[in-house]
Parts: sequence; C-alpha cells; structure tokens
Amino acid sequence: MSIQFGPDYIRAIAPYQGGKPISEVAREFGLDEAKIVKLASNENPLGMPESARKAMADVADAGRYPDGNGFELKAALTAKYGVPADCITLGNGSNDILELAAHAFVQPGQSVVYAQYSFAVYPLATQAVGGRSLVVAAKDFGHDLDAMLDAIEDDTRLVFVANPNNPTGTFIPGEEIEAFLRRVPPEVVVVLDEAYTEFLSPRQQYDSIGWIHRYPNLLVSRSMSKVYGLAGLRIGYGIAQPGITDLLNRIRQPFNVNSFAQAAAIAALADDDFVARSAKMNADGYRQLTQAFDELKLQYVPSSGNFVLVKVGDDDGAGARINLALLKQGIIVRPVGNYGLPQWLRITIGLEHENTQFIAALKNALA
Ligand code: PMP
Repeated sequence: MSIQFGPDYIRAIAPYQGGKPISEVAREFGLDEAKIVKLASNENPLGMPESARKAMADVADAGRYPDGNGFELKAALTAKYGVPADCITLGNGSNDILELAAHAFVQPGQSVVYAQYSFAVYPLATQAVGGRSLVVAAKDFGHDLDAMLDAIEDDTRLVFVANPNNPTGTFIPGEEIEAFLRRVPPEVVVVLDEAYTEFLSPRQQYDSIGWIHRYPNLLVSRSMSKVYGLAGLRIGYGIAQPGITDLLNRIRQPFNVNSFAQAAAIAALADDDFVARSAKMNADGYRQLTQAFDELKLQYVPSSGNFVLVKVGDDDGAGARINLALLKQGIIVRPVGNYGLPQWLRITIGLEHENTQFIAALKNALA
C-alpha cells in the first residue's frame, strides 16, 4: 500500500482551475496563437499600461532582493488613499492577501463563511488551513448578507465578501455592506474583496478604506490585476488596522512582492488616464456584449465587473458544449461548472473587435 502524505483536508482540495492559456488552446486545437481571443481570466484587454512598462525597465538590478517592506509602493498607496503604511499589506496578487487572512485567523476545524457562487479561492484558502466552509446560498446570484450573518457560528473566524462578486458580477451597495459590518461579531474578521472595485460607476462607489478606522475586524483587499492591467506581475494589497496588518506581516513571505511588480504598481497607481480608458472600454464592451445577449435571447446576470455571466442552455451539458464549440473557433471563455453553474459561461469583456469575434463564434456555437 502506498503511503498517504499530508492531512486529509489537503488531499481533499480540488486544485484551482484557471482560464486556459492561449498557447495551450493553439496546441490542442491546431490554431494560430495570433488569432486566438482570450476572454477567460478577467484580465485587462488593453494589456499593461505603458507607464508601468517604463517603470519596470528602470528597475536597477534584479540581482538584488526587492524591498521586503515595499516602502515606496506603500508611500504611493498612502498618498492615494490616506492610510498609513502600518495599515497596508502588499501581496503577490490579492490572492496572497486572501490566503494570508486564512492562515492568520483560522485554525483547523474553525469555520469560514462565504457565499455560494463566490470566488473559488475562498474554499481553497479555507481548506488549506483545515478550516470548515459554511457556504451560504446565493440570493439572485449574489451575496445574501442577512443569511451570511445568520450562518456565523461560535467558531467562525473569517467571512469572505466579494464586491463586485466573481463569477457573477453582482454588486451590493456600500450602505448594505456597512450595515453588515456593524452586525458582524467583532472577533470575526471580514475580508472585503474588492478586486473589481475600480470598475464601479461613480454612483456605486463607496469609501470602504475609510471604514477600517471604525471596524478593527475589516480587511479590504484590492487587486492590481484588473483595471491596472498587471495580472502577470502578481500584485495586490490589503488595508486594515495595524492589529490585523501586523499579523499578516508576520506570516507573509519576506519578499512576497518582486521588484518589477512594485515599480510597475507605483506607476500604474498614478496612471489615471489608463484607468479611465480601461473603465470606459469596459463600459462600452459591457453594452456590446449584453446587447448581443438580448438579441440572442440569452439570460445574463447584470454585472458590475469586467465580465458577464451568461446562460447558454437549459441542460447541464450546455456550458461545456458551447465552451468546446467556442474553443474550436479560437475563443477562450470560462466555463463555470466548477462553481455549480454548468449552464453558464463567464465572458471577460474584451476589446471591441474581440467582443465582435466572440459574438459571431457564439452565434455559430448556438446554431
Ligand atoms: N478576488 C476576486 C473576486 C477575483 O476574481 C480575483 C481574480 N480572479 C482575485 C481576488 C485575485 O486576483 P489577483 O490575485 O490577481 O489580485
């Protein structure tokens, strides 16, 4: 009999499934990489900002370790958001912040609350520390905050709330989130995952970073992979009172954010023009995609992110079937059967011509 290594709760983990890389689809389907359109990973279709590219080129010497405390990047975040450096944790992607939170606050057997149809990393981070998942049924594809409050048990140490949510794109108004924070027991840490917050319309925006002064159990998590176009560099950050921040700092890797990512992030944070262009392109693309879905009489979930969840059939094979038909035409989107949504696909909003290509391929696939 072979030896079983590691605890049961690690062996029970189903590894994260990302969007298929372009090179893999080209190989598998015998396609030209240059013609493939990838709308699968909620990346920025404009690519990285030129300002960030220049800043990376200026990194003096990658033979040296990065600044392990990220002094200059934290200073840029302080200037932008008015929070002191001892409230900021830098992460190797915001994914790092989510995992650090699970490691810092959850012991084996303790519970973590999150919503059905929320980001796949919440169950992964919970399982990796031997935590118990309390998954709360979604309401209209989004978070049911009252039910999430009710789900909190005596041993609950962490709640994940994504706003906007991935993969559904649903949004909860700021007042409702704050009302929720007021009612969460103070010993339960709330990770407010705002990876897509920069795509919110001015009317939707709310001051979550300001809330950290009132709620010592709040950790706001932000990503630079989306509107800032730095997904490949892996950079995100968490903002919380020093109590939480200090704990995350104790367990993070000493050099968890590399020199290039730090330099690029400083440039991107200052690049208001790029952010505005990205948000405008996203709004235009959202209209383009949802108009096509309306014409095709396909149900979709109204989204506040840079992606749209669309129902492509009534049977549980529909998502996989249409996904395969799209792949054969060189279009990569994200099947979401692993989220319990086998009739749906998640489409990242692309450039206008990419959206056009996707819509044509979708029509073919549905025919
Ligand atoms: N949170 C949510 C809700 C996400 O959708 C993602 C990216 N898919 C992340 C966090 C992690 O993004 P990153 O690690 O690239 O910052």
